[in-house]
Amino acid sequence: MELFNLKETTERVSFSQAVKQGLGKNQGLFFPAELPTFDDIDALLAMPLAERSSEILHRLIGDEIPKARLAELVTNAFNFPAPLAEVEDNVYCLELFHGPTLAFKDFGGRFMAQCLSELAKGEKITILTATSGDTGAAVAHAFYGLDDIQVVILYPKGKISLLQEKLFTTLGGNIHTIAIEGDFDQCQQLVKTTFDDEQARTGLHLNSANSINISRLLAQICYYFEAVAQLQNRENLVVSVPSGNFGNLTAGMFAKVLGLPIQGFVASTNLNDTVPRYLRSGQWQPKPTVATLSNAMDVSQPNNWPRIEALFEQGYLDRGILQSDAIDEEYTQVAMRQLAQLGYVSEPHAAVAYKALKRHLEPGQTGIFLGTAHPAKFRDTVENVLGQPISLPQELAECAGKEGLSLTLANDYQQLKATLFELVGK
Ligand SMILES: *Cc1c(COP(=O)(O)O)cnc(C)c1O
Repeated sequence: MELFNLKETTERVSFSQAVKQGLGKNQGLFFPAELPTFDDIDALLAMPLAERSSEILHRLIGDEIPKARLAELVTNAFNFPAPLAEVEDNVYCLELFHGPTLAFKDFGGRFMAQCLSELAKGEKITILTATSGDTGAAVAHAFYGLDDIQVVILYPKGKISLLQEKLFTTLGGNIHTIAIEGDFDQCQQLVKTTFDDEQARTGLHLNSANSINISRLLAQICYYFEAVAQLQNRENLVVSVPSGNFGNLTAGMFAKVLGLPIQGFVASTNLNDTVPRYLRSGQWQPKPTVATLSNAMDVSQPNNWPRIEALFEQGYLDRGILQSDAIDEEYTQVAMRQLAQLGYVSEPHAAVAYKALKRHLEPGQTGIFLGTAHPAKFRDTVENVLGQPISLPQELAECAGKEGLSLTLANDYQQLKATLFELVGK
């Protein structure tokens, strides 16, 4: 697989290089030089999840990982299901939260960890990533205990739920966590600054593991196929994606390019609505990030957007396939209650996607919204809004009682850099 840097288009890399490097020169994102269209979609849809996913990923990645080995990596990574739950007539939730950290980021995180340990072949690597909640947990669990890989996770102090925090700050070992006195965009900026610092990048053998890594995106393509595979009626399908950094939506749009029959997408955001405003006005005008109930989507400068722009600009997709809506706090709660009345307990991120889907779904269309987290990960909010108790699954109950091991740092690059060299630079 050949990829190029969207900012420095002459920089061309293999899949292996793109996975190990994360970002290209000048913070550019890697993008496939060529995206195929499959002509055997029905045959693919008839396969079981792991087998189909290996086949799709093999076609995309090519021979850089031998096919049989890739199948093993996929089997290790995707060891949990992605069921489609019908919530009302013609409306389904794709439940992506049955992995070890109960969020969809387990798909990308686990496949990336498998790829990296396969491709690094004993080189030392430091994963540096910023999280607004769930990436951290998924990355931490996916890499925990892997030889030669150290993980450092930055997150905005006090801005993610305590349970969410416990899920990745209690592991120890090769997992280091730092609470930054700032918001998620500032954490993300610190990560970018570190990657731009040649001394830090080489001295620490840096690698990024947030949604910009191409291996994560490729992994996420697979569950869109799994969703369609479970549908009887595959006509006029609209998929609503609760979006923050827009990696999830990018993967869905890649799936459409590959030939998966999806008619259109709804990019669903909370009050951090840079993309809905952009699609209406043509002006890219990020505002300061605001805190919402769906905090994993509290992102005002979504870092995957240039890839979506590239899909349009390179003629892979027409702009008309993408609709967009921002759902405010009030309507997020309304949607959670409406879903509960339908007998489906959900959390704020999925509720945002459901509400936006319902605003756009037309008669004769089938809608899928993505359930990106288990309701128990947002227990306080869910219990407050629905007025009913929900129980903790075992994964959460176990770490809830453990002590968090994070350091706290100011939003200050020099301090962070010194700390990174102390933690992993030896
Ligand atoms: C990360 C996350 C999102 C947003 O996904 P992106 O790929 O960043 O757009 C939505 N919901 C939950 C629960 C998340 O953790």
